[in-house]
Amino acid sequence: MNEFALIEKYFTHRTRHTLLGVGDDAALIRVRRGHTLAISVDMLVEGRHFFKGADPAALGHKALAVNLSDLAAMGATPRWATLALALPGADTRWLAAFTGGFMRLARAHGVDLIGGDTTRGPLNLCVQIMGEVPAAQALRRDGARAGDEVWVSGTLGDAALAVAARKREVRIAAAQLRAAARRLDRPVPRVALGAALRGIAHSAIDISDGLLADLGHVCERSGMCAQIDVDALPVSRVLRAMRATRVGRRLALAGGDDYELCFTAPAARRAAVLRAGARAGVAVTCVGSIFKRRRGYRGAPVRVVSARGEGVRLDGVTGFDHFG
Ligand code: ADP
Ligand code: MG
Repeated sequence: MNEFALIEKYFTHRTRHTLLGVGDDAALIRVRRGHTLAISVDMLVEGRHFFKGADPAALGHKALAVNLSDLAAMGATPRWATLALALPGADTRWLAAFTGGFMRLARAHGVDLIGGDTTRGPLNLCVQIMGEVPAAQALRRDGARAGDEVWVSGTLGDAALAVAARKREVRIAAAQLRAAARRLDRPVPRVALGAALRGIAHSAIDISDGLLADLGHVCERSGMCAQIDVDALPVSRVLRAMRATRVGRRLALAGGDDYELCFTAPAARRAAVLRAGARAGVAVTCVGSIFKRRRGYRGAPVRVVSARGEGVRLDGVTGFDHFG
C-alpha cells in the first residue's frame, strides 16, 4: 500500500467543524467568535513512552488522550487534531488497530482529524490538538492565588503503580495489576471537568509527571507556595492498602501518567467546585492550599504534611523529568 492509499484508508474521516480537512496542503478551520484557539502537541516515542510491541489500539487512544488532557487543563473544548507518524513499515493490522483506538476517542470528544504527516522511521507518534476556549477564560498555570484550595480529580498513583509492578518493583495481585494498567494504558482525559471549571478555578494543570512536580509548576508560575496533606490524596482501591507506606505515598505524590487535573480555586467557591465535579461525573478532592511565597524563598514550592499536620520527609521524591 503506498503512502497516499494509506492516508486515504486510515486517516481520512468525516469532519464536523472543519472547513477543509485531510487531502490538501493545509487544513482550514474557523474559530468561533469570542473564542481563543488553544494548541498543544505531545510526542510518544517507542522505548521511551511505551514499550516495543505495545497494543496499537491502546497507543492510538493514549496518543490522543494525553493531548486532550492538556486541553482539559486549559479549560478548552477540543475540536481538531493532527497526527504525525513515523512508522517502521505499512503494517495494516497495526494501522487499523491504532486508528481504531485514536478515532474512537476522537469521535467521543467531537474531535476532527484534519491532517498530519506519514513517514517511514522508528515508531514515533506525534499528535497536535487544537481547541476553543471562551476568550480570557482559559485556566492557566499562573493564576493561583493565596487562599486558594488545591484540588485533584479522580485518584492518583495507579498508572505509576502499574509501571512499578511491570518492572517488578512492587508485587500486586494480577487483578489489581489489570486495574492499574488500565489507568496507564487507557487514561481518561478530564475534558468535561476542565470546561466545567471555567470561571471557578484560578489555575489548573494536568498531572502527567506527578502531583508534586505539576503542582510545583503551578506554584512557580504563580509565584506561590502550596501545602498538601498526603493523607488526603485520593487513591484507588488498589492503592488504598499501601497508602500509608513509603511506596504508596511516593506513587500518589510523584507517580506520573495519571492525567488527572490539579487545580486551585478560592475556598469560597467550594460548592461550585463540587458541582462542577458532579456535572462532569468525576470525584474532586481538596488536598491542600496555596499561600504567599515569602520574598527570597528558595525552598521547594510544595510542602507535604500528614493528616496530623506534621511535615513529611520526601527523601528525594520528585516528579518525572526526562533530562533529570
Ligand atoms: P504534503 O506533501 O503537502 O506534506 P502529504 O502527502 O504529507 O502532504 O499529506 C497529504 C494529506 O494527508 C495532507 O492533507 C496531510 O495533512 C494528510 N495526512 C498525511 N498523513 C496524515 C496522518 N497520519 N493523519 C492525518 N492526515 C494525514
Ligand atoms: Mg507531509
